[in-house]
Amino acid sequence: MYWEKDVETMPREKLDELQLARLKESITRASSSSFYGTLFNEIGFNPDDIRSLTDIENIPFTTKDNLRDHWPYGFLSVSKDKLVRMHSSSGTTGRATVVFHTAQDIDAWTNAVARSMYMTGMRRGDVFQNMMAYGLFTGGLGFHYGAERLGALVIPAGAGNSKRQIQLMQDFETTVIHIIPSYALHLYKVFEEMGVDPREDTSLNIAFIGAEPHSEKTRKKIEELYGVRAFNSYGLSEMNGPGVAFECEIQGGMHVWEDNFFIEIIDPETMKPVLDGEEGELVMTSLLREGMPILRYRTRDITRIISGECPCGRSHKRIERIKGRTDDMMIIKGVNIFPVQIEKKLMEVPGVGTDFQIILEREGFDDVMHVRVEVQKEFFTGNLKQLENLRRKIVGELKSDILITPKVELVEPNTIPKSDGKAVRVVDNRHD
Ligand code: AMP
Ligand code: ZN
Repeated sequence: MYWEKDVETMPREKLDELQLARLKESITRASSSSFYGTLFNEIGFNPDDIRSLTDIENIPFTTKDNLRDHWPYGFLSVSKDKLVRMHSSSGTTGRATVVFHTAQDIDAWTNAVARSMYMTGMRRGDVFQNMMAYGLFTGGLGFHYGAERLGALVIPAGAGNSKRQIQLMQDFETTVIHIIPSYALHLYKVFEEMGVDPREDTSLNIAFIGAEPHSEKTRKKIEELYGVRAFNSYGLSEMNGPGVAFECEIQGGMHVWEDNFFIEIIDPETMKPVLDGEEGELVMTSLLREGMPILRYRTRDITRIISGECPCGRSHKRIERIKGRTDDMMIIKGVNIFPVQIEKKLMEVPGVGTDFQIILEREGFDDVMHVRVEVQKEFFTGNLKQLENLRRKIVGELKSDILITPKVELVEPNTIPKSDGKAVRVVDNRHD
């Protein structure tokens, strides 16, 4: 039932002790990076000052901007020749945040993913089809190596190509899939078109769903359509990727692997810890990473800690499914997109006016991004072809950066409603 019983069911006090010991080590390692070394000097902090877990509050938070500003090597705590892999966050072709791993980091990460999968009932003998993008995104290789470690047969299908996915599932009797929830709903339509019923005509029994926020309703729907049990998988590239928090067979919240990570929940306004069980922003500290330790990282993800013991016997804290973000990042088809990326691209196109709006809709099971763009008046003086050319150019420019194809509508100046305060850049109509 357990991958590593001693670790997974470790009594609270022992787990706290382990965390404190690892926290000290992690902070000491971090202090040899240029970013934390400078920071600790500036604030007069000494890693020996950590005597209890709450002493971590003496260290400032780390943000995505810090990672960007010290790109690419400012957070490295080892020499470059000890690194064996890099990954980055999904969604942008620009200068994304990068994370580097040593062989030991990859080993610990792989183990955490294997442990997570095992917890849901996946075993040696299972056939695992990984339908996540391989490459820089962590959902591909992260899950891949975890599944191999567990001893499953892995089909590295990668993202997209729906018909082939279904064919693979049938030919090789896939039992476990890893899939983005919005894509799972989309893929079902393709099943229907092909006249294949996933409940009857495949061997599927487990799905790992993650990489984007989704509701309990969406989980239930996936379980019903596919005849599987669907488990929520949470992770972020800054903390390796998958294998950060995962649901057990109880499906009552996600266990955070506390031997790997120390977590805090803060009020994003006051930046102080919230009361036990209250909602707030998840802040994470890596405990084992040697290549690139990250301390008190503001994930921007909103969740809360579920109190009480989990009937599965694991002692590691559980967090509730991610409710949203404290910044304006959108996640569309698993791809992270910031409105400012759209803005930057639009402003580079001659003819574009001053205002734009992003409207997110769910069409059938698909997420669709509509972008309404105000363009200069001249484009509306009769030459429709010119307008269409501009529209196509904008679609192409946006696609090259955000990697998904938006539906672009060009409108006359002053069409987009102005608000009194901050511009309402994003209207999210994707409610279930
Ligand atoms: P990346 O670093 O590109 O892997 O993106 C990580 C972000 O994806 C997280 O900070 C979350 O906002 C989101 N994410 C990942 N897994 C989940 C999940 N299971 N539920 C909700 N959001 C998720
Ligand atoms: Zn549990």
